[in-house]
Amino acid sequence: MSEGCRVAIVGGGTAGLSLATTLRRLGVSGIVVLEREEDAGGVPRHCGHYPFGLREFKRLLKGPDYARRLVREAIAAGVDIRTGTAVTKLHKGGRLSLVCGGETYDLQAERVVLCTGVREASRAQRLISGDRPIGVMSTGALQGMVFLQGLRPFHRPVILGSELVSLSAIMTCAHAGIKPAMMLEEGPRMLARGFMRPFPALRGVPMRFGVGNIRILGNRRVEAVSYTDAGGLPREVSCDGVIVSGRFRPEAALMQDSPLEIDPDTGGPVIDQFGRCSDPHYFASGNLLRPVETSGWCWQEARDTAKRVAADLAQEARAQATVTLSVNSPELRFVLPQRLVPDAPPGGMAQMQLRLNKPVSGRLYATSGGQRLWSGALNTVPERRILAPIGPIITAAPIHEVLMETSVVCSMESRPPK
Ligand SMILES: Cc1cc2nc3c(=O)[nH]c(=O)nc-3n(C[C@H](O)[C@H](O)[C@H](O)COP(=O)(O)OP(=O)(O)OC[C@H]3O[C@@H](n4cnc5c(N)ncnc54)[C@H](O)[C@@H]3O)c2cc1C
Repeated sequence: MSEGCRVAIVGGGTAGLSLATTLRRLGVSGIVVLEREEDAGGVPRHCGHYPFGLREFKRLLKGPDYARRLVREAIAAGVDIRTGTAVTKLHKGGRLSLVCGGETYDLQAERVVLCTGVREASRAQRLISGDRPIGVMSTGALQGMVFLQGLRPFHRPVILGSELVSLSAIMTCAHAGIKPAMMLEEGPRMLARGFMRPFPALRGVPMRFGVGNIRILGNRRVEAVSYTDAGGLPREVSCDGVIVSGRFRPEAALMQDSPLEIDPDTGGPVIDQFGRCSDPHYFASGNLLRPVETSGWCWQEARDTAKRVAADLAQEARAQATVTLSVNSPELRFVLPQRLVPDAPPGGMAQMQLRLNKPVSGRLYATSGGQRLWSGALNTVPERRILAPIGPIITAAPIHEVLMETSVVCSMESRPPK
């Protein structure tokens, strides 16, 4: 069986719903959201805590209420949301293979927008050694158990990681009457923002930084976690579970065997400043683009992408001449977008997004063929959003024939942070 639509959106989370609603409000009809879960709403559905919605609804909401509002808005705008529908393959030219209720069928869209979000790195991906007992899970899995199924999988877990989502794990534990035994971070400091740093202590969760050699111990269930402390001494903490939190990566499984180019730095699709992928029938938005942003950011980013998709529908999908944008210094982790269309019509992203591998105090440069196109001060740490203007690069970059590419390198002169 095969059917058609104008825009198919893969993923009914924050980005997918925001994008679909905006497209409808721009007057585009034939918008289908494909969501593999039985309910749309994405990650916020199981984030049963504040703060969501300030930017979007000017109200402080818990995740599930926020997700419901996004769904209500999309339905009111006339979006066709198909839940329980998993996209299993992306074909050239905007054709999708789907599975719904055990049936498979194809959907041909004029444009497809991928909004499949991020997930946390698993224990295996983080190379955490030790036994294989029951009771090891990600924050996302814990949230699903607590908020969607009303379960309490353990009483005294250890939390591995200190990103914002680790604080979300503490809040989820509090909701279920779970008291974390400890929080362990391999880095020298907390990854969540400075003003959030006292949060674990306020909740009575001890924190240890600079730890190494983390091992999970236990026969049937988790019994303890062993580690070396910042001074290299062996330590052990008793616990009955482990929450492996953070270290996000884009949910890009669909792209592995697809016509779309993947950026090894972000782990998401290669896009241009319009959010267009290497096959011009495909766009991408939300946290699939990079690890990781807040819901509010993804919501706004998706609204902007919707305007670009609506404009693109008015013309034939075709590959554009692009300039490659890549990082060229060990301190820089990724840059987004990875391609720039010179001489493009207005409406693309005004800023590129970058992230660091380590704290840096220095300058950020954009250069091309040895010529400096732009530079700006840089003084920040990993996991923080870094923005740099695209305008000076596009106007300065040499313009090439269609599909000919040149390289613009973002490099950085760094000195140790104070
Ligand atoms: C565990 C966890 C906790 C988080 N906590 C917070 C928080 O407290 N506050 C905050 O602001 N942000 C949080 N985030 C970040 C979160 O990614 C954003 O808030 C927001 O959900 C991003 O929206 P999105 O649409 O990009 O992705 P998502 O909301 O993740 O939506 C992606 C959707 O795509 C669907 N999907 C994926 N693959 C397919 C497929 N093949 N076929 C069909 N559907 C598919 C998924 O089921 C999902 O519903 C958290 C992220 C995670 C992973």
